[in-house]
Amino acid sequence: MNPYLAGVLALAVGTVTAPNAAGQDPDDPADALFRQQRAGMVSVIRRDGIVDTETLRAIGAVPRHEFVPAEYRAYAYENRPLPIGLGQTISQPYIVALMTEILQLSPGMKVLEVGTGSGYQAAVLAEVGCDVYTVEIFEALATQATERLQRLGFDNVTTRHADGRYGWSRHAPYDAVIVTAAGGSIPPALIEQLKLGGRMIIPVGSLFGVQHLILVEKVSNDDVRTRNVLPVRFVPILKGLR
Ligand code: SAH
Repeated sequence: MNPYLAGVLALAVGTVTAPNAAGQDPDDPADALFRQQRAGMVSVIRRDGIVDTETLRAIGAVPRHEFVPAEYRAYAYENRPLPIGLGQTISQPYIVALMTEILQLSPGMKVLEVGTGSGYQAAVLAEVGCDVYTVEIFEALATQATERLQRLGFDNVTTRHADGRYGWSRHAPYDAVIVTAAGGSIPPALIEQLKLGGRMIIPVGSLFGVQHLILVEKVSNDDVRTRNVLPVRFVPILKGLR
């Protein structure tokens, strides 16, 4: 860790008490600070162009500080990605919001996520009211996220330790698919498991070069329409269980 970060964290982390079972306590001063910071983050995301009120409400409701390692909690409500261990990251909040908004979700929809990571994006989708099926290739991350989502009460998220490039056929078809790691192409299984008329958002591109967030709409059983949304930088999609 860089010395500046360590210094700031030593100051900031001292004031943060352990979370209670529900994750949020209205009387806890640390939670009050996090709530205030979270409201600030929502303003930033709105200023940057997110307009969907349900997406903004969900980002304003999910305690992102519970999804980052303790040493990064002081930065949980800054609009940037943070390390979550094993070389992986929790995505930038603006990108989480953009990907959520673009799927045009409504309560009760079934969503497949590839790349559970911390579980934060899954929690935001669940907060919108969706039933979320999320797949993670690192067993340690899948286990942690499962425990965390359960503790925070996100009952409508189901996690699985598997290679998400093959989707999760058991619960298919999905109203929407969201992929949070970048590969060179769109995995065919994910298109197959998408409902007719369903939407998928996925970063596509090379590891060190440009990646683009691509919106995929399944217009017929053998045809998709794609739209290039935004240049992005995601961690690479991996092969082989870990
Ligand atoms: N959505 C996450 C961001 C995770 S970063 C969050 O909100 O925190 C991308 C994640 O994808 C990492 O956890 C990585 O381990 C996972 N991943 C990479 N390749 C994968 C694959 N083939 N199948 C499932 N998960 C994968």
